[in-house]
Amino acid sequence: MTVRVSPDSSNSPDNRYSITLRRGIGGLKAHTMAQFMDVVSLTKGIRSMFYMVTPNESSFENVEDVPPYVQQATPFFMGLMVVELVVSLLKDGTPLACVSDVVTSVSAGIISRMPTLFARGFEITTYIYVWDNLRLLELPWDSAWAWWLAFLAVDFSYYWVHRFAHEMNLLWAAHQVHHSSEYYNLSTALRQSLTQQFSSWVFYLPMALAVPPSVFAVHIQFNLLYQFWIHTEVIRDMGPLEWVLNTPSHHRVHHGRNEYCIDKNYGGALIIWDRLFGTFAPEGDKVVYGLVHKINTFEILHIQFHYYKYLWRRFNRYKNIFNKLGVLWKGPSWKPGKPRLGDHAEVPEEQWVNCLVQGHNYILFTLSAQGFDLATLRLLAQRSNH
Ligand SMILES: [Zn+2]
Ligand SMILES: [Zn+2]
Repeated sequence: MTVRVSPDSSNSPDNRYSITLRRGIGGLKAHTMAQFMDVVSLTKGIRSMFYMVTPNESSFENVEDVPPYVQQATPFFMGLMVVELVVSLLKDGTPLACVSDVVTSVSAGIISRMPTLFARGFEITTYIYVWDNLRLLELPWDSAWAWWLAFLAVDFSYYWVHRFAHEMNLLWAAHQVHHSSEYYNLSTALRQSLTQQFSSWVFYLPMALAVPPSVFAVHIQFNLLYQFWIHTEVIRDMGPLEWVLNTPSHHRVHHGRNEYCIDKNYGGALIIWDRLFGTFAPEGDKVVYGLVHKINTFEILHIQFHYYKYLWRRFNRYKNIFNKLGVLWKGPSWKPGKPRLGDHAEVPEEQWVNCLVQGHNYILFTLSAQGFDLATLRLLAQRSNH
């Protein structure tokens, strides 16, 4: 469905608004017009959540004219979360969330947007600086091909932002916030890091050599918004779209702590980058969500900052400077003498037990948190299998 809402189309003499106005209509028609406008902005808001926008309605000459799409999406975040809750209750009668977890995720979302109260986002500020001072050419802001090129470039850059955020411990200290929930639902998408934006901007700077800031400012927002709806267990399979798009199934794998899930499926809107660069994994065994080393807390500041403290402790533990630096720039699982990303076979054994017992993962983790030892868990696992 394409509804054009650009200033050009609303000023056109033969669109329905101006016809209505020329007839000198009374209150009833004005009311109808207002209702129509509401429907237009509602459908546009919903389409924005899925990147279903046209270049025509989302191209701007100046970066100041770009709407705050993410801010405007707040009611849609809430609306879709309610829809997900209702659908999950109707499907199997069990909600996919617990209230404390949802509140923690929403709080993280609010905290992560706080820097934008005082200044433009860090990514766009640095981008404008490079564009103003270092650009090599100027792609047109109003052409469809430049729009599509920027769509691909932002998504490609996001793949590398995200991959580095997982493969480099210092960046993982920020990104682990997003992975700290042991639930997987739309609220998980809002669980964002306060500090990640202070490193991600670097990856977008090559685009600033040619793509106007206004075009970048549109796509960086839609790319983020697209990633909201894929945080759900309600949608199981998208058919042939699974080949090209990042989908709920692909992103569930990304949030898994099962061995087959670790360091996989970094894509933003498209999954093609993972397929190209060898980081793709299809959904297999039931995914167990959350961090490999659980944090067992809903304390919002602890979730944001605890990993930096841990990094500092590990950094100080080593005497050798190469090991110290390795703690910062190698993967979270790295140890001296191990490959750069560590050995994924060394993930905690209780996770392995959980992977064996499909459908009983949550129960076992709860028992584990209450102090059951591994032998007891194995026993329960065997019983659950019969
Ligand atoms: Zn991630
Ligand atoms: Zn996610």
